[in-house]
Amino acid sequence: MSNPPSPMLTTDPLHARLALFAEPHEVAPDMLMHASFVNTYALRTPAGLVLVDPGLETAGPMVHRAVRAWSDAPLHTAVYTHGHVDHAFGLRPFLDAGDHPQIIAQENCVQRFHRYHLTHGWNARINQRQFSLPQPIFPEAFIWPTLTFRECLTQRLGDLDVHYVAAKGETDDHCYVWVPARRYLFCGDLIIWQAPNCGNPQKVQRYPVDWADALEAMAGLDAEWLFPGHGLVVRGADAVRTVLTDTARYLRVIIDQVLVRMNAGQTPEEVVHAVAPDAELATRPFLQARYDHPQFIVRNLLRLWGGWWNGNAADLLPATLDRQATEIAALAGGVDAVVARGRALLDGGDAVLAAHLAEWATRAAPANRAAQALKRDVYECRLTQEQALMARGIYRAAMQDAETALARASGDTA
Ligand SMILES: [Zn+2]
Repeated sequence: MSNPPSPMLTTDPLHARLALFAEPHEVAPDMLMHASFVNTYALRTPAGLVLVDPGLETAGPMVHRAVRAWSDAPLHTAVYTHGHVDHAFGLRPFLDAGDHPQIIAQENCVQRFHRYHLTHGWNARINQRQFSLPQPIFPEAFIWPTLTFRECLTQRLGDLDVHYVAAKGETDDHCYVWVPARRYLFCGDLIIWQAPNCGNPQKVQRYPVDWADALEAMAGLDAEWLFPGHGLVVRGADAVRTVLTDTARYLRVIIDQVLVRMNAGQTPEEVVHAVAPDAELATRPFLQARYDHPQFIVRNLLRLWGGWWNGNAADLLPATLDRQATEIAALAGGVDAVVARGRALLDGGDAVLAAHLAEWATRAAPANRAAQALKRDVYECRLTQEQALMARGIYRAAMQDAETALARASGDTA
């Protein structure tokens, strides 16, 4: 008797098709996979279940049902590969049903939860914009880790050793989980089946160098199975190594260019526009820039190693953007001239430059309908041209701001 092949498993990552959702199923021996944007894994051990990433708060009941339909063994351990809302907030139904798992996380997860509490409103708005949600939303109830570690931790579960290793990458509170007897490696969001999410324009510092280090360390483990935080499970030692080392190289290529240019004294603006990812690696199915954007990784490195100043002395203690826009519009002979030029650029295919004119026009004259219509059309165009979700969310929000201003303006004249 053999199970049908899993839609979430590949042995050929160079030619795989990404999937993020599947019915819960046993993807590997003694391993249940719940794939619903984020991957949750339940591992059967002699001491009970280990749950890797309980998932979103809202998906908790689904995860619980799936795990309990598969096994009634007690939940011995839950681990957060990091404290992001899609990974570390789904445990409540297990606790309510009477499980008392040890909850393991890297120690920085605790600071993360404190920061989430401190900046709740800000994070709710960031997530609304990033994922184009109808309203601000962010969890307020935390299920705190009960066992944290700084560098590494080993658990003995019957005859099985489970190693937890701290890492930095998408977050400062990452860890990966290694079960050598099974050659199972859980890497959290250090692999997401997209170009690494380490430039996110709206979020706190990310760690491209530590990320590459962690990927290379994991590549040395000789894992047979790779269980990522999102996307497909990878099977086969060579396939696993390829995914890990190609992703590390993708980061190193960007990191090295940024370092060379920074050390040569180039300004942040010059560095941002000059650095490019490796063209061949960027075509890999697991390195598509559909989530984050490589240019955002460059900016994140500039923030990591430099200050916030952009290299333009006028921007150090600047005039407000509204005053700058008003001055530019006056120089152009009025807002209408700025709008006309922006429209011409947009019609000519340069939405990138047209966006600057749309911002000047709407800031100089927020009630000007033609200016707001230009802004709406510019960002609608940029949405069609851009595949990175981190950019698309911001463009969509800007487009909606213009639509709101237009609706307000027609309400005024009605
Ligand atoms: Zn994630």
